[in-house]
Amino acid sequence: MKMNEMIHRLVSVEEPEGTIATLTLDVSGSGILPEETRIFLKEKVWKHLHNLDREAKNSSAFGRVADRIRDFVDNRLKPGTDGAYLVAGREIWETLELDVPFRNFFHVGRAPYLAPLVEIRARWPKVYVVRCDERRAELLVGDLGVLNSLQRFEAEQPVQDVERVTIGRFAGGPGAHRASGRRDRFERTREEGIASMIRAAARKITSMNSGPPPQAVFLQGDREYLELFRERLPAALRENTSYLGPVVKRRDNTAELLLETIRRAYDKTVERHTLEFSEKRAQGAEVALGPREVLEALPSGRVVRVYLNPDEPLTGLKCMDCGTRYPGLKERCDFCPGPLSPVSITQEVIAHGVKHPPLGVAFIPSRAGWLRDLGGMSALLARKGLRMAT
Ligand SMILES: [Zn+2]
Repeated sequence: MKMNEMIHRLVSVEEPEGTIATLTLDVSGSGILPEETRIFLKEKVWKHLHNLDREAKNSSAFGRVADRIRDFVDNRLKPGTDGAYLVAGREIWETLELDVPFRNFFHVGRAPYLAPLVEIRARWPKVYVVRCDERRAELLVGDLGVLNSLQRFEAEQPVQDVERVTIGRFAGGPGAHRASGRRDRFERTREEGIASMIRAAARKITSMNSGPPPQAVFLQGDREYLELFRERLPAALRENTSYLGPVVKRRDNTAELLLETIRRAYDKTVERHTLEFSEKRAQGAEVALGPREVLEALPSGRVVRVYLNPDEPLTGLKCMDCGTRYPGLKERCDFCPGPLSPVSITQEVIAHGVKHPPLGVAFIPSRAGWLRDLGGMSALLARKGLRMAT
C-alpha cells in the first residue's frame, strides 16, 4: 500500500543543509483551495520559503522548492483530493493525495517530517464492513477514508415473493391458520438467507491473508446477527468486531456511519491513552517526563508509547558522530567531540518508531495543556528488565 511504502522510503531521506520542506494541506475535496488554506500558504509557506531563500548561503534551493510546491498546488491537485502531503527538497520530491483531510502544516528541516503521515494512518485505519439486508450482502474494505467493494453475496430468494402474495390473500380469511404456517416458513427462509450470507462474508474475511490485518470489523444491518457473524470470524478479529448501524432503504449511508464511528473510536483511544499515562504517572510507575527523558529511554527499547504533538515539533540537536540527540540548545556533545546539527526531536522519535516497531505513538492535540507542561513530550515505559519485542 502506497502510504506505508512512502513512510518507509522517506524515513531514511536526509539533506544535511536542512533543505527539505514538508507541507500538509486541507484541500476539502473540491479542487478549489479553501480560503483558510490559501491564507496559510500565503502567510506561512511562501513567506517562510522566501525568507529562507534570501538567508541561504547556497541560494536557489528554497526558491526551487517554492516553485515546485506552487506549481503542484496551482495545477496538479486532483479535483477529489481532501488532503495533500508534500515533501520537497533539493533532491527529494514526493506527493500523496488522500480522501481524508490533513490540517494545514509546514515544516522545514534536514529530514521529511513524518508525524502527519503516521498520525493520519492511525486515524483512518483499514477496516472491513459487511452490509447486509434481506436480499443481499456486501463486503467492503475501508482504508484512509475510502470504501471499496470486495464481494457481493445474494440470498436465495425466489420463495419470498410467492409467499408474500399468498400471505396477503389469506391474511385474516378462512385460510389464516394455514397462512401463519407459511409466514413462519417465510420468516425462517428469510433468516436462513441472511445467516448464510453473513457466514459467507465471514468465510471470505477469514480467507483473506494479503496485506495488513484490519483494525476493526463492522456489521451493518440487523443487529441480531452480530453474534453469529462474530463467532464465524477468526479469534483475533472477534473482539474488534462491532455493530455499525441499520441499513437504510434507498440511501447508502455506510460511508457516513463508518467515518463517524472511526472518528469517535479514534478520539476515545486518545482519551484512553491519556488517562493511562496520568494513572501510571500518579502511581509512580515508570514514565518519561519531558523530551530529555524520552530521548534517554529510547535506545533502551523500554519505551512502550510516546506522547507528542504532531503540530508543534520540538527542535533540538543531534551529534553527527555518535548520534546522541539533545532537546533544545547545547554547546557540545556529552560523549564525543562530534559536531552538533539542528534536528526535529519529534521527527527523530517518529523515525525511531518506524525503524523499531512496535513503538506506539499517541498524538496529543495542541489544546491539551498537560503535555505542554511537560515540555511537549512524554512516554510510558516498560518496567526495567523488560524490553519491548522488536
Ligand atoms: Zn557525540
